[in-house]
Amino acid sequence: MEQIITAIPAKKSIALVAHDGKKAALSAWCEKHKSILAAHNLYGTGTTGHLIEKTTGLQVEKLLSGPMGGDQQLGAKIAEHEVNLLIFFWDPLASQPHDPDVKALLRLAAVWNIPVACNEATADMLIASQMMSEQIDRTIPDYHNYLANRLD
Ligand code: PGA
Repeated sequence: MEQIITAIPAKKSIALVAHDGKKAALSAWCEKHKSILAAHNLYGTGTTGHLIEKTTGLQVEKLLSGPMGGDQQLGAKIAEHEVNLLIFFWDPLASQPHDPDVKALLRLAAVWNIPVACNEATADMLIASQMMSEQIDRTIPDYHNYLANRLD
């Protein structure tokens, strides 16, 4: 498929997700970077979103809990260009009942080429980037053009 360049705006829509073993770490990370995060739109899976709101006071649009469909909701929002950055503190030391959903979420983040942090060190690098406050280009599949050519 051909590719097309599109923009990620300066005000980003950031998804925040953490498995149970990493919720405290993500919550503390959000508290630490509260002033930067407050400038963006925040989304979260149910339990993670509630915890972040409670501990930091940040406003988070909360979806269903991850194992109940929240990861899939986030994946759909990525595909619809509603979410354009993912901070996902997943737990590599615990098995998850919704492992296929986790994989699907990460796959869609790769398909739509959004910045993703899967651990705290990467999240630190993302949040420190000058690009957090700038519009940036991203290359994505040109599905509309692909469809138009197929139907010709
Ligand atoms: P939760 O979901 O925030 O509702 O716990 C996170 C996940 O496990 O995907």
